[in-house]
Amino acid sequence: MNSLNQKCPECDGRNLFFTEVSSGGGYGPILLPGLGRLFRLAKFRVLVCEGCGLTRFYAEPNARAKLPTSRRWSRV
Ligand SMILES: [Zn+2]
Repeated sequence: MNSLNQKCPECDGRNLFFTEVSSGGGYGPILLPGLGRLFRLAKFRVLVCEGCGLTRFYAEPNARAKLPTSRRWSRV
């Protein structure tokens, strides 16, 4: 993941960690609607800075590839 080579934009720390989580389910809203597959919601890569706790969410590559043609998403 490219972001692992970056510094934290908040504290310039370099101890960054990431994992992958579902973009919805349970009692929460679906945060990346229309970008998953049948029976599988799109995932986020979550990046956390150990130093200051800044947390960033990135839509996974397969989800991003669907943005231009998805009816659920509008170009800004
Ligand atoms: Zn930081």
